[in-house]
Amino acid sequence: MKESKEKDNNICCLGIESTAHTFGCSIIQFDSIKKKGEILSEIRSTYKAPNGTGIHPREASRHHIDKAPNLLRDVLKKANIKTKEIDLISYSAGPGLGPCLRVGAVIARALSSFYNIPLIPVNHALGHIELGMMLTTCKDPLVLLVSGGHTMILAFSNKRWRVFGETLDITIGQLLDQIGRYIGFASPCGNRIEEYANQSSKQYFQLPYIVKGNDVSFSGILTATKKLIDNGYNKFDTCFSLQETAFAMLTEVIERALSFTEKKEVLIVGGVSANNRLSSMLKIASKRQNAKLYTCPFHYSGDNGAQIAWTGICDNVSSGKTIKVQDSFVKQSWRIDKVEVHWR
Ligand code: AMP
Ligand code: MG
Repeated sequence: MKESKEKDNNICCLGIESTAHTFGCSIIQFDSIKKKGEILSEIRSTYKAPNGTGIHPREASRHHIDKAPNLLRDVLKKANIKTKEIDLISYSAGPGLGPCLRVGAVIARALSSFYNIPLIPVNHALGHIELGMMLTTCKDPLVLLVSGGHTMILAFSNKRWRVFGETLDITIGQLLDQIGRYIGFASPCGNRIEEYANQSSKQYFQLPYIVKGNDVSFSGILTATKKLIDNGYNKFDTCFSLQETAFAMLTEVIERALSFTEKKEVLIVGGVSANNRLSSMLKIASKRQNAKLYTCPFHYSGDNGAQIAWTGICDNVSSGKTIKVQDSFVKQSWRIDKVEVHWR
């Protein structure tokens, strides 16, 4: 619970996430003496498309508009603070779906102007990494960011996260979700693919394995897996084969990057990091390269407001940075390697 503002050295930040299927908000309190953050509250609601279909950006944005008022009220109630006690508002400014991003930005702007609270934009991918590092306490990891919007291998150097490898076409999350939808699940459905793979007899069907340098390509696996489904192959074994192939590709590029960078830590973040098979493969590869594997705690692996609140605090505390409401744009294709991370 936050003490009265005069007495404490805390900064309370409200983070708003709305890049895609999830509207999330969270309040994090930063102790500026101990230099530590505490998540006071975090809640979210995820838009579920009808079975077999993908996210419709307009429908997802309508979901966010519907859910936002109650979620915002509840996040304050859970943290036991009032809106005027918030010191900073951060919002996910990209990358993401335009209509969804705009909902979060409009809410952040409105609260910022009405209550006169400083505003700060956050890069969503950076949010995944910063929260993952805060929660696992790793220091200088090679990062695998695997989510609906990203498949990237990143290493920090000279104030930026540098992309060591990435997907050349669709992301791993899109691959799993598109196959899940083809089977008939509702998106996002990587967890259902994992459940099916766990029920498999472990019969492997050959799928295209495409690694180019340190980049990966998943579109060939997508087409080939759909063909297996069309031809009536066992769905459990198909999901098993899909996971084995796609995750082996990611493991190969991580192991090569580890050998090249000689990093001693690997951090997996993003919704797909919830997958146990992926982390068990990466654990073996990391051990072989004398590195330790850290996985973002399951609850915070997918999109959430805490990643935005925490990154907003890191940015603001180190530089005093805030932006004017009229400069609070959203950027649908804002790449993480364009962001200067002056606090590392
Ligand atoms: P994010 O964009 O970070 O919220 O991550 C969402 C992605 O994570 C979606 O593509 C989900 O299908 C995927 N995901 C969630 N849980 C799992 C899981 N257990 N295994 C694989 N993918 C998952
Ligand atoms: Mg994400």
